[in-house]
Amino acid sequence: MALLSVIIPSYNEESNIKNTAKVLTSILDKANIDFELLFISDGSQDDTYDTILEVAEENKRVKGAEFSRNFGKEATIFAGMELALGDCCVVIDCDLQHPPEVIPEMYELWLEGFEVIEGMKSDRGKEGLFHKLFVTLFYNTMSKLIKIDMNASSDFKLLDRKVMNVLLGLTEKNTFFRALTFWAGFKSTTVSYEVKERQFGESKWSFFSLFKYAISNTTSFTTLPLQIVTFLGIASILFSFLIAIQTLVQYFSGKAVEGFTTVILLILIIGGFIMLSLGIIGHYIARIYEEVKGRPKYIIRQYTDNIRGNVIGK
Ligand code: UDP
Ligand code: MG
Repeated sequence: MALLSVIIPSYNEESNIKNTAKVLTSILDKANIDFELLFISDGSQDDTYDTILEVAEENKRVKGAEFSRNFGKEATIFAGMELALGDCCVVIDCDLQHPPEVIPEMYELWLEGFEVIEGMKSDRGKEGLFHKLFVTLFYNTMSKLIKIDMNASSDFKLLDRKVMNVLLGLTEKNTFFRALTFWAGFKSTTVSYEVKERQFGESKWSFFSLFKYAISNTTSFTTLPLQIVTFLGIASILFSFLIAIQTLVQYFSGKAVEGFTTVILLILIIGGFIMLSLGIIGHYIARIYEEVKGRPKYIIRQYTDNIRGNVIGK
């Protein structure tokens, strides 16, 4: 029988682990699916890992690993795929905002031969206005840039072993899981679900971390901003050309002092464009620098005995 690995990124989720394990176990048992639950504690500061150990003690299908520090959700997904023994895997949030009842539905589609089953949000659930605005803006831009509808997509998806191996084989360190499965292709389909409210604990995203996430994902998926730099350069040269003509005309008609405004404007505009461009280029250089260093995506500090092999990081 095929094995399904459920990957559960968990960062300071001590209040959720037990409930999540229970709910997933009962749903998957009812659907007659052979599974393992992989809780990856992302360097949690609370008792997340101890709780995982406790649950694993009672339920042999529960496995867990803990990072040496917080590496981010992306890293936990990749660690989960690395440690998974399954013929397919599903990634689900520890707070069960992704409804676990959808997993059997995804699994059915997998049995029918689909290799990527994307969970699509039918609505985004309760989010603050500011959060919503920012997320919508980010995903709309991303969708345009990479030509994939990102607005409804999420990390909640089921992947066939083939797709997992493709993703695990990528050498890049800065990944964007949500978009990578679209990039990978394969026979895919979608399942829509409604985002639920978080029962315990609170969301780990601050505005600043979301902003960082947006920048890092944009630069890891498209080089369009670099081309915008060129465009801005050309635009400012054309603009300067017009101003140059105006300045010369004023000079020859003896009204040169007025041009002072123009000088200030020019310095501001060109200076602004240059700094913006340097900033964008800087982001890509930082990206290259990080990739060149070739450090692992994550470091595993410890894991439960029932997990396979001695995987230390990738
Ligand atoms: N998460 C993680 N590492 C982090 C932040 C979050 O593994 O640095 C996990 C978290 O435990 C949860 C999932 O990612 O299972 C989604 O996080 P959260 O619920 O805080 O985000 P939201 O649902 O508000 O987007
Ligand atoms: Mg959540």
